[in-house]
Amino acid sequence: MTYVRKRKPRILRFMLLFIILALIIGMTTFGITRLFNRYPKAMMEVNESIKTAGNHKKRRSTTDTAYYVLHYPDTKFKNLNSWIASEMDTTMNTYPSDTEATEERHQIKQDYKSIEVNDQYISVQLETYENDVLVNKVSRVYDVEAQDFLKTDFLKDKAQRVINKQIRDQLGPNYNLSEITLDPLYNNLYLDNSNVEFIFFNEVVSFNYKDHPHYLNRALGDVEPTDDFIPSVYLDYGFENNKMVALTFDDGPHAVYSKQIMDLMEKYNGQVTFFVLGNRIRDHQENIREMVDRGHQVASHSYDHPNFSKLSIEQINDQLSKTEKEYEIATGMHDDLFVRPPYGLILDEQIKQLSVTFINWDVDTEDWISHNPTTICETALRDTADGSIVLLHEIYQESYESLDCILKGLSEKGFQFVTVRELLLAKGEDITGGGLYYYAN
Ligand code: ZN
Repeated sequence: MTYVRKRKPRILRFMLLFIILALIIGMTTFGITRLFNRYPKAMMEVNESIKTAGNHKKRRSTTDTAYYVLHYPDTKFKNLNSWIASEMDTTMNTYPSDTEATEERHQIKQDYKSIEVNDQYISVQLETYENDVLVNKVSRVYDVEAQDFLKTDFLKDKAQRVINKQIRDQLGPNYNLSEITLDPLYNNLYLDNSNVEFIFFNEVVSFNYKDHPHYLNRALGDVEPTDDFIPSVYLDYGFENNKMVALTFDDGPHAVYSKQIMDLMEKYNGQVTFFVLGNRIRDHQENIREMVDRGHQVASHSYDHPNFSKLSIEQINDQLSKTEKEYEIATGMHDDLFVRPPYGLILDEQIKQLSVTFINWDVDTEDWISHNPTTICETALRDTADGSIVLLHEIYQESYESLDCILKGLSEKGFQFVTVRELLLAKGEDITGGGLYYYAN
């Protein structure tokens, strides 16, 4: 009796255990299934891009308006991880772009690629999709040695310009040029074993650095920099036949301001004309070469700034030929330089006897009187018209300080910044026989 009575509860206990186990398994499976079902299946999948740096992880959440599945690499590097995290925060704050309630939740998915290059660089690119449409692409290259993000200063200055031009050519005129400008601090890039990708507005411009070791100024991957010649290029995007102005700078070149002016002009995709003094060229040959390289016009302001109206034709010719000689020594090129007579002074009969293109101005910013950046800018903005030639000086800090204001103001009015030569040619002036010009019609 006791033996039989003992068996029944044991069977019951087994059955109870079985039911509990079945329930647990059932609920768990149901829970997992539910969890997966909460997110559309495609959001859980990633593309086949390389994901070799970091461990693949996912950040998931659901709101009233969207599902978020953000795939990302978890790396060994704190700075890199926090950049990734902050990008994901931004994504979740920015998307869905349309916050109006729709029947279905938007699907916000992030995919990525990641690679380690030569134990020194970790590249991560994050791509955000909203309902399968790419809405954002950002990249960083983390330099493990420097413990900082790589910037484009790994490229030589000239190479940056060459690549910059390539980028502009590739992306075309749909973009505002100042927004697709590669500068030494630009860091939206991705590096693998042979290419660097630059990202502008979600578009990728790829550059093969293995084929161009002479563009590098530091080793990248296993590529060592070399010293080969880089062809000169300037960022001339051409100009349309609408409003244009020629800014001119006298009395240089200058050790500091020449380059600063050129750097600023690059931001506005413009060129200027430098009326330089022959006796200053020898000490600033590099500046003269850079002016030519960067598409600016180098012109003559005499050798040592005499008043032409008091000189003989022979003396004027001597002033001009000595300056052209210095220009030739600096650049290796012979050119019939345009000339701005010192003080703007030259006699009609002198002009007739010389087949030289003389350039004065119609807009005098009076920078040489006021030395006040605000006044200089106001004058330039007030007096400049289509075809104007604007007088500035290269040697005053205040003139340089006024330049951004001038460029910004005139850009907003639709002006393009061209050289004097471009201005005269674009406006159909015949400059073959020389003459004196104050502006172009
Ligand atoms: Zn002068």
